[in-house]
Formats: sequence, C-alpha cells, structure tokens
Amino acid sequence: MWIRFFRPDASLVWRDPEVRRRLRWYRSVMLDETPAKFMIVKSIKAVDGLKELREEKLWNLHEELHNEAEELFKQYYGSGVDYEKLKPVQPSYLDLKIELAKRILRRCRFCEWRCGVDRLSGMRGVCGLTEKAYVASFFHHYGEEAPLIGTDKQGGSGTIFFVSCNFHCVFCQNWDISHPRGKLEDAGVEVDAKRLAAIAKKLRVDGAANINYVGGEPTPNLHVIVESLKYLDVNVPILWNSNMYMSGESMNLLKDLVDIWLPDFKYWSNECARRLSNVGGRLGYRETVTRNHLIAAKHGDMIIRHLVLPNHLECDTKPILKWLSENLKDKVLVNIMGQYRPDHLVLEKPEKYQDVSRRPRNEEMHEAYSYADKLGIVYRPVS
Ligand code: SF4
Repeated sequence: MWIRFFRPDASLVWRDPEVRRRLRWYRSVMLDETPAKFMIVKSIKAVDGLKELREEKLWNLHEELHNEAEELFKQYYGSGVDYEKLKPVQPSYLDLKIELAKRILRRCRFCEWRCGVDRLSGMRGVCGLTEKAYVASFFHHYGEEAPLIGTDKQGGSGTIFFVSCNFHCVFCQNWDISHPRGKLEDAGVEVDAKRLAAIAKKLRVDGAANINYVGGEPTPNLHVIVESLKYLDVNVPILWNSNMYMSGESMNLLKDLVDIWLPDFKYWSNECARRLSNVGGRLGYRETVTRNHLIAAKHGDMIIRHLVLPNHLECDTKPILKWLSENLKDKVLVNIMGQYRPDHLVLEKPEKYQDVSRRPRNEEMHEAYSYADKLGIVYRPVS
C-alpha cells in the first residue's frame, strides 16, 4: 500500500493506454493473469537423449519447439495460471535450452566478444568468469521505471545483481561488482541454479513484480540463469536488464524465456563504444545491439534505456532516437535518462575523458526530449 505514496507513478502509469498496449504481456504475467514464458516452455516436451545429440541437431530441434512455444504463448495469454496444466515435462524445451547453454559455455559465445574459451575447464574470457556465477546482492528495487515497480499489492522489482561484465565502461558506477579488483568471490556469493531459483522465489513470494537479472551484466551468467528457471516454481515475469551485447545464439535461447526486456542503447558510434566501454568484439556494438533490439521487440515487451552523455548528442543520442523512430516507434517504450555523472576512470583521468567529465546540461536534455517529441517517440510515461 505504501507504494502509492512513494511511487504513485507505479500505478498511475497503467492509466496510459499506450503503456498498457506496449507492455500487455508483461503486465498480464505480473498480475498472474498469464503464465510467464518459462512456465510454458517447461511444459513443452523435447526428445530423450539430448546430451547425445550434436549441437546442430539441437538447434534444429530448438527452432521447431520455438514455433510450438509461440503458438502456446498466444493460447495461454490471459488464461490464468493453472499449475496442473503447466506441469513440467522431462525433458522439456527448457532442458534443451540448458543443454545448448552448456555447449556454448565450452567455447564461450554468450556475447559478441566470442572469446571461444572453455569456461567449464576454468578458462576465462573478457568477462573474467569461469563457469561459476556470483551474486553481489538482491533486493526489491523501487528506483526502476514505473511499470517495473508493481501495483499496490506488489513490491518493487526483484533485482539480482551479478558480479562481472563484458564491458569496461570508463564511467561505470558499479565498478566494484562489474570488475572487482580482488577475487570474484570477495565481490559476491557463488550461486548455482538451485540457489538462484530460491532467491528469485523468495523475491516473488515477498511481492516482487518481476525478477530483474542485472549486474555487472547477466549475459555471461546465462547458463546458470536459464538452468535456474527449471527450479523456479512460482509465476513471475522474467526481466533481462542488459547491455544487449548478446550473441545470436544467446538471443535464440532467451527470446522465449524473457517476458520483458530492459536493454541499454548506449551508443550509435562504434568509435564511442570502443573508447568509452572498450567494446571490440567480432561484431560492432551498433550492429549487435540493433540486431538484438529487433529480435527482442519481435518476441517480447520492451523498455529501452538511453543514457544521455554530455557532448554526445550528435554522434549517439540523435541517431539512436532516429533509428528507434524508424524501427520500433510503435512497439516499445523508451526511457531517455539524464542521470549520467562522471565516475570511475573519468574521475581518475578527467583530461583523457574530457567530453564526458561533467553531467549533461539542462539544454542538452531538453534538446534530446524535443528531438524525441519531434520523432513521436513515447518515452515520458516510464520515467
Ligand atoms: S560471456 Fe562474452 S566475454 Fe565472457 S567469455 Fe563468453 S564470449 Fe567472452
């Protein structure tokens, strides 16, 4: 009930018909009117002997079951949550995804760095993780966008912060968990799939509107997150809060598990991405995130975040907004964020990162908002 006083926008936001339309699946799952995608995916039968099949065969099977899942999502929408009908089968479409995630881990391709290291044997790629996952903290987050806070009866976004990241942003505000200077285990608690599921369940039972996987970055932990859904036995929307630098394979695994996407769209210029976030995988930042935004919007609800950087209106903000207006204007919500402040390396070496060594000015934010208005982008209801 107290949410009504601290975050009145959390319930008021649903009066906006565009917000209701664009987030209809997510809202329905949040209110337990529809089963979350992972619940449906667990009820779809895969074939026996998954471990013996070649990866190519597994992907073919994945494509077939994906089509089946799409049909079921339509059928189940608004049907309530019937746990008997949704009883998990063995092996399920989710087991197939778990098996594929393990194969990817052996030659890691979870993101477009495509390090190719065998993380199961203890090797590490750019993100610095072996197969182990560490959670730095988890709690009910009341500072997220209004639709993610829940209604009067629910409480906050059930946010789980993972240690480590595949980006190295010079202005990172979570450097202590994204790239801890000491041991990873000093920055968080090691979790396996069962423990992660128990954390998610506790958050939902205590009223969380969704489970918000974030970091650092959730992508390098995808194998543990996907497997944890096997043990999660409460209905709750799955939220992917990410830099969106996932590989095509990861997008394939996630596209019918995620109920709502909360991605960053940081840069338009690959040069800015390289200089400010040290993103330099096989595929460029822009090419990767535009591809992934299109896939995500086709398969789920979405709130796209863009953090306005000072002096980056022409190279990043405006081209991003233009691309969004041309590709996703009627489908997603956009949050144009003005809370950038210098941190981490920018504070240590302001002369090297002069362009981003201050907060964005009011005039810059107004210019970004006016440009979005001119393009007809829906952004205000979510902030
Ligand atoms: S998750 Fe990305 S950065 Fe980490 S090892 Fe895999 S491909 Fe490399």
